[in-house]
Amino acid sequence: MFNAILLTREEGGTRAQVRALDEAELPQGDVSVRVAYSTLNYKDGLAITGQAPVVRSFPMVPGIDFAGVVEASSHPDWRPGDAVILNGWGVGERHWGGLSQQARLSGDWLIPLPMGVSPRQAMAIGTAGYTAMLCVLALERHGIRPEDGEILVTGASGGVGGIAVALLAKRGYRVIAATGRVTESSYLLGLGANQVIDRTELNGPGKPLMKERWLGVVDTVGSHTLANACASTHYNGAVAACGLAQGMDFPATVAPFILRGITLYGIDSVMVPRERRVQAWNRLATDLDPAPLEAMTREIGLNQAIAAAADLLAGKVRGRLVVDVNA
Ligand code: NDP
Repeated sequence: MFNAILLTREEGGTRAQVRALDEAELPQGDVSVRVAYSTLNYKDGLAITGQAPVVRSFPMVPGIDFAGVVEASSHPDWRPGDAVILNGWGVGERHWGGLSQQARLSGDWLIPLPMGVSPRQAMAIGTAGYTAMLCVLALERHGIRPEDGEILVTGASGGVGGIAVALLAKRGYRVIAATGRVTESSYLLGLGANQVIDRTELNGPGKPLMKERWLGVVDTVGSHTLANACASTHYNGAVAACGLAQGMDFPATVAPFILRGITLYGIDSVMVPRERRVQAWNRLATDLDPAPLEAMTREIGLNQAIAAAADLLAGKVRGRLVVDVNA
């Protein structure tokens, strides 16, 4: 038997409970993993509260990522004792996920825990940090160097935003952090932001083109914020869009694209090919200092994760929540 959060669909919505489950109930897969840590990402919040239809079949164990140790494997890449991480591939949406003491899944989805990163640190990073890294890699591939201009990070007090701030600062970029929690300025400056701005500067309807303010953007909130971020991006700059915390809409015009030549990169973390995942995780292992990571991380147990999911969606969580599934 093992403990997991189990989501069931009942009249009136999704029900989430911590339940003792039998290993025979685990889904099919060629690798079994003893999970050490998972985490709460925005999508886990949506799944657990049922606020958006991210869960595709019930009953479901949520948790889009985990770190753990292989217990049994018939997959050629993995042996018992291997330390692994998982994120994406529809785990926690279509296939039972990481908010559980046990997981069984395809070995094709796993990647090795990078050298020098503990399972807890890997989940402090989690899908949020890995997505932040994918955004930074997109800006780098665009050719933006630290000396070229400033980078805006929106939703900066959140998980993706906080790690993006820390990663960019470590590489020497000047970072402007946009937040609704200006009271958190000292936290964001501590992560390496050079300037903190109030998100109200960006989250209302704007003009097709506005004063050029930054060369690159990591946007985690979408909607008017993304439109205004694009409208304020310097000539030939780039915007990496990964989130929808403000909304899924994109009320923009083509002006920044056809008059300033800016590029909008869409960032998906779920189906990224293995090679780019390994690149992102290896860069996280070298670029993200343990101190800022720890400063933005709070640890909770499986029992606390259900209440924390609602707090996350309400914007009450700062940084990252690591879940010790064995606590
Ligand atoms: P968090 O909840 O940790 O952070 C979201 C932040 O967005 C909040 O902390 C808040 O920052 C800001 N925010 C919340 N509501 C609003 C609003 N109404 N208007 C403007 N800003 C708002 O979530 P994550 O960092 O984990 O995820 C951020 C986004 O990225 C989510 O939409 C998530 O779905 C998406 N995501 C996408 C992935 C992909 O594959 N594309 C992978 C991972 C995440 P502040 O208080 O600083 O204003």
